[in-house]
This record gives sequence, structure tokens and C-alpha cells, in this order.
Amino acid sequence: MAKSPEQEHPKKAFGWAARDTSGILSPFKFSRRATGDDDVTFRVLYCGICHSDLHMIKNEWGGTSTYPLVPGHELVGEVTEVGSKVKKVKVGDKVGVGCVVGACHSCENCMNDLEVYCPKMILTDNSFYSDGTLTYGGYSDTMVANERYIIHFPENIPLDASAPLLCAGITVYSPLKYYGLAEPGKHIGVVGLGGLGHLAVKFAKAFGAKVTVISTSISKKDEALEHLGADSFLLSRDQEQVQAAKNTMDGILDTVSAAHSILPLIDLLKSHGKLVLLGVPEKPLELPVFPLLMGRKTVAGSCTGGMKEIQEMVDFAAKHNITADTEIIPMEYVNTAMERLAKGDVRYRFVIDIGNTLAATKP
Ligand code: NAP
Ligand code: ZN
Ligand code: ZN
Repeated sequence: MAKSPEQEHPKKAFGWAARDTSGILSPFKFSRRATGDDDVTFRVLYCGICHSDLHMIKNEWGGTSTYPLVPGHELVGEVTEVGSKVKKVKVGDKVGVGCVVGACHSCENCMNDLEVYCPKMILTDNSFYSDGTLTYGGYSDTMVANERYIIHFPENIPLDASAPLLCAGITVYSPLKYYGLAEPGKHIGVVGLGGLGHLAVKFAKAFGAKVTVISTSISKKDEALEHLGADSFLLSRDQEQVQAAKNTMDGILDTVSAAHSILPLIDLLKSHGKLVLLGVPEKPLELPVFPLLMGRKTVAGSCTGGMKEIQEMVDFAAKHNITADTEIIPMEYVNTAMERLAKGDVRYRFVIDIGNTLAATKP
């Protein structure tokens, strides 16, 4: 008979898990592996809430969720133990783990520091380690990961507001670079001003781009322009505004979490422009072919980023003072936070104060 999550490994751990498709999270005792030679163990202090956590706890991606599901792939904390071969960090260092905790390390993608595109990639949450045990994410007190998957945070960077860089940050940084959009003077559209979107505005501005936010929420207009530094704001349901902006953008990052039409977005692109899909709606989107051909436009995708690029992005963020705008919440607020996230009611990322509030929820 399979061991219970509490007995599988030697290290006791505690977190919050969803048990079924209701997605409701509650206290959960489990275990983590001992610190191996190449491993880093850290005490989790903060963990961001990504919209992917919400998709996963509710099993919105075609039955891919396995319960009990401890979400969280934007976790940061302080190193408590390192294996004998670890070189990257030492006890006391500030570190984090993003979406990935394992890969084959020998395929073409792994050789090119693109572990996230490895066919054997292991996700931080809702995935399986090679020994068949479930991976549990950052809504928990401790984490153990191979040092390849550990990101080192410079001392001057606020950990709570930097946690969301580990997924939201890299997910927008990587396609800006890869698709040639991280250049001064490019006109970039950002669709959906949420966790990913608000960081997309900050990174694109830091690269010197002209940024237009394309949003369904007029209430976000002033913040987008005055606080986040966007150059213009397009209300997506205002046909006149959309019409006037046609054929003006070099690239668009689409971070929308729900089904929506991409035709108006393709129309906003100049010839040869690129629409990069980052959001993962529950249902497939329709692809309008004719407008793509007529402008030799590209519709593409991108998934977070490789470990080397995540470290590069964190260092870039530290240099340019880029952090997430966060609402810090106690652990016991997480179910309410999920309800609010589903309604788009967050400015712009919930981050759970694991270090100060998780232990109090132990039964
Ligand atoms: P979020 O904070 O909820 O932001 C999503 C934004 O999309 C909302 O703030 C809203 O912005 C807009 N939106 C929501 N519903 C919409 C609808 N029906 N029509 C049009 N716009 C809508 O979510 P997030 O954490 O940024 O994540 C966004 C998506 O990216 C999720 O699907 C997530 O799973 C996915 N994701 C992908 C990757 C990757 O590697 N590709 C990584 C992380 C997350 P406005 O109010 O401004 O319209
Ligand atoms: Zn994420
Ligand atoms: Zn590989």
C-alpha cells in the first residue's frame, strides 16, 4: 500500500492543500525529502498566488490536477540547510523557487538552459518527482530543491514583493526578450492588467518600450498611466479606441486568464507584429487565419523561462527597482483571496505571509 504524504519522506512539513475540485484549501500535513548532496532546504517566508494556482485547485485544465494539491510556485525564503555539493548558496541566504523543480538535464532544451521546455520537466506543484511522489508547492513551511532550481535574491531586494517575479515576472520578461520586443522604441501592448500584466508594463518600460495597456477594467486606467507608467490605456470594449489603435503595435503580451477573442488583438499589430499568448484559459481560443496572412503576423506562446534567465531577470529587476505591487495576506485568508482573484479584485498580486501566519493555522 502506498504511504501517506505524511510518511513518504523523513522531513515533516505543513501547508495548505486543496482536496477536490471545489478548490477549497485547508491545513495539510505532509513530508519532504532529506537534503541531498545537491539540494538546498529553505524556510518559506512568502508565496505569491498565481492565477495558475486557481486554475489548478479547481482542475480547470482538462483533468490535470492531482489531490491533495499544495499550490504555490512563487516561493521565497531563507536557506536552512545545504547539501555537501552545493556551491550557489549558503545557510542564511535569501532564495526562491519558481515553477520548475526538475528536468532531464541532458536534452537539447536542458543543454540550452531551457529546463521548462524539457519533456521530463517537473513542476513545483501538482506534478510528480521521479520517485512517483507528488510535488507540493509553496503554500507550506519548508521547501527542498536541487540547487539548479534555486534562485538567489540580492540582499537589497524586498522578498515579499519579489516573490511574484519567480512566475509572473519571468513569464513576461522571457517573451519580451525572445521575440525581440525588449528594445527601446518598440510599441508593446499588454492585455489584462493582473499579476502578469502589471509586471509586463514595468519590464517593457524598463526596456525603453512604449506601452499600451489593453484592459476590460476602466477602473485600472489611472493606475496604469500614473502609477505603473504605461503610455496609453485602451478599454477593450470601446470600439472607437480600438479602431484608432489598429496597426500600431510591434508586439502584444496577452495575459488573459479566460476565453476571449484574439481577432481585435491581431488587428492592433503592425505587419510582422507578434501576439504572444501567455494566459491559459480553460477552453481553446479561435485562431483567425486571414488577418494573420495579410500582415505576415505571428501568434506565439511562451512558458515562464529557464533557470539561467530567471536569475538574469531577478538581477535585472533588482537593478531597475522592479517588484510586484502586492497585497500581503495571512494564510487563513487564502480562500477569500482565491474568490477575489477569480473576480479580478486584486492590485495586483496576493502574496501569502507564510513565515508569520502559517504556523498559527496548525491543527
Ligand atoms: P490575474 O492576475 O487574474 O490577471 C488576469 C487578467 O486578465 C485580469 O486582471 C483581467 O485584466 C484580465 N481578464 C480576466 N478575465 C478576463 C476576460 N474574461 N476577458 C478579458 N480579460 C480578462 O492572472 P495572472 O496571475 O496574471 O495570470 C494570467 C494567466 O496567465 C492565467 O491564465 C495563468 O494561468 C497564466 N499564466 C501563464 C504562465 C505561462 O508560463 N505562460 C505563467 C503564469 C500564469 P483586466 O481587468 O485588465 O481586463
Ligand atoms: Zn504561475
Ligand atoms: Zn531535458
